[in-house]
Amino acid sequence: MQKHILIIGGGIAGLAAGCYARINGYRATIFEMHHLPGGLCTAWERKGYTFDGCIHYLFGSGEGQPFYDLWQELGAVQNRPIIYHSEYQRITDGRDTLIVYCDPNQLEDHLCEISPRDASLIKQFCDGVRQFIRFDLSALYRKPRQLMNSTDWREFGLKMMPYLIPMAKWATLSAGEFASRFHHPFLRRAFAQMFSWEEAPLMMGMALLAYMNNRNAGFPSSGSLAFAQAIEKRFLELGGEISYQSQVEKILVENNRAVGIRLYSDEVYSGDIIISACDGRTTIFDMLDGKYTNRQIRRMYDGHLPMHSMMQISLGVKRDFSNFPHWVTYLLDHDVLIAGEPRREIGVKHYCFDPTLAPAGKSVVEIIVRAHYPYWQHIYGRRVYDEEQHQVSDILSHYLETWYPGIDSDVEVIDEATPLSYERYTGNWQGSTCGFLLTKETMPMLINGVPKTLPGLKNFYLAGQWVEPGGSLPLSAASGKNVIQIICASDGKPFITQ
Ligand SMILES: Cc1cc2nc3c(=O)[nH]c(=O)nc-3n(C[C@H](O)[C@H](O)[C@H](O)COP(=O)(O)OP(=O)(O)OC[C@H]3O[C@@H](n4cnc5c(N)ncnc54)[C@H](O)[C@@H]3O)c2cc1C
Repeated sequence: MQKHILIIGGGIAGLAAGCYARINGYRATIFEMHHLPGGLCTAWERKGYTFDGCIHYLFGSGEGQPFYDLWQELGAVQNRPIIYHSEYQRITDGRDTLIVYCDPNQLEDHLCEISPRDASLIKQFCDGVRQFIRFDLSALYRKPRQLMNSTDWREFGLKMMPYLIPMAKWATLSAGEFASRFHHPFLRRAFAQMFSWEEAPLMMGMALLAYMNNRNAGFPSSGSLAFAQAIEKRFLELGGEISYQSQVEKILVENNRAVGIRLYSDEVYSGDIIISACDGRTTIFDMLDGKYTNRQIRRMYDGHLPMHSMMQISLGVKRDFSNFPHWVTYLLDHDVLIAGEPRREIGVKHYCFDPTLAPAGKSVVEIIVRAHYPYWQHIYGRRVYDEEQHQVSDILSHYLETWYPGIDSDVEVIDEATPLSYERYTGNWQGSTCGFLLTKETMPMLINGVPKTLPGLKNFYLAGQWVEPGGSLPLSAASGKNVIQIICASDGKPFITQ
């Protein structure tokens, strides 16, 4: 008889686990608390505008390149045009502007024009990007570490060999630390913001530019929700079942074996194997009452690891923005207080590169700022929460008006999302956008791998961004795949992908 796998969460990790479970002959049912698939990989419609809440770049978008086969197996990239940018973003303080070209040669020339005195540092950075051009991050996910034999390790070692020195050098240095080495005051500020948070390991940024330059980190046309829905379609066509509006309250355990789940509606479902592909903390400490942990797990979730929460203000604007650069981070001269936190940088992005997201001649414009979760949590549920959201919109709109004069009168719709929106919508701890943030402190967790089982609990697995530090779509999907590989191996079955 087919074993029945119950999967908690219909985000990218849960959907991927579901597809590979079906391909490998398991019965698979996903329980998703929302009425849509995708989790954080989502978008929402307002008055004819589609506000995208996720993808800036998709690793694996380029045919034949690392992670592409994963998306192909999941039916996500077939017949989907991919949009590529030659510049990742621009960063300006109003006087100087850094154009972050994806091509390292172009970037090097441009940076040297801004600051010839920093030529040697600039060369080191651009050489780093060049070094990662053939870097295959997907090699880390082809097989779960625990299933790798000596041949796999040898092959893996040979693949990684050329990168050991660059990795040792750049994975342990943050963008902010590197930025502080520049002589040029503007580059000192701009470099720190280049990869969205200054704690980002420089290696991550180099690999990102390398993948963008290789056309392997594009934007899938029609955006994030359509991307997730393509995987949902594949899962359903493979014979998978999804139960929407089904929020799991408890994982049921008998004799230290996971045997089923109970929903908040009190419905109970039995299964042979349970995979949790949703928030790690809720799974371990609420659904399982913290009974299956050890020191390492308790330490991971004690709040000391960095996380990333954000606010997104999305605007539907009756004006064509296509002549503006698609993404600009503005560096302010003075702190501006946004939701209790002094901020000096504001990111503005428009989506005119994908005409499916707004009516003809109109534009979706999004403002992205980092946000402090406790601030929003303290006021949640009271009138001041709504007032504060509007106040933040007003402050940011004031800046927008100075950068894009006249925009105020062209705005047709405004939508505000706080860390509480992300938490409510996806259940992620503190509204985290990527599980534990990838920094030089969490990088070793990514390289060594986080266990996908819990001590003492049988027939249970974890998948998704909380077991893949730094999250992201390819790593979440790969972790769903890896869990099914482990299950197949423990059932003595070969793992197949078609
Ligand atoms: C603004 C933003 C930008 C991003 N940009 C990029 C990018 O450019 N490229 C990239 O690769 N990644 C990006 N990411 C990260 C990426 O979206 C995530 O890492 C990834 O989608 C996580 O997938 P997941 O399946 O592990 O988790 P989730 O997406 O969180 O899915 C978990 C699912 O479980 C459901 N769930 C939770 N609790 C329960 C319960 N009790 N019962 C039933 N269901 C439950 C949730 O509703 C959700 O659907 C971005 C994320 C954000 C927010």
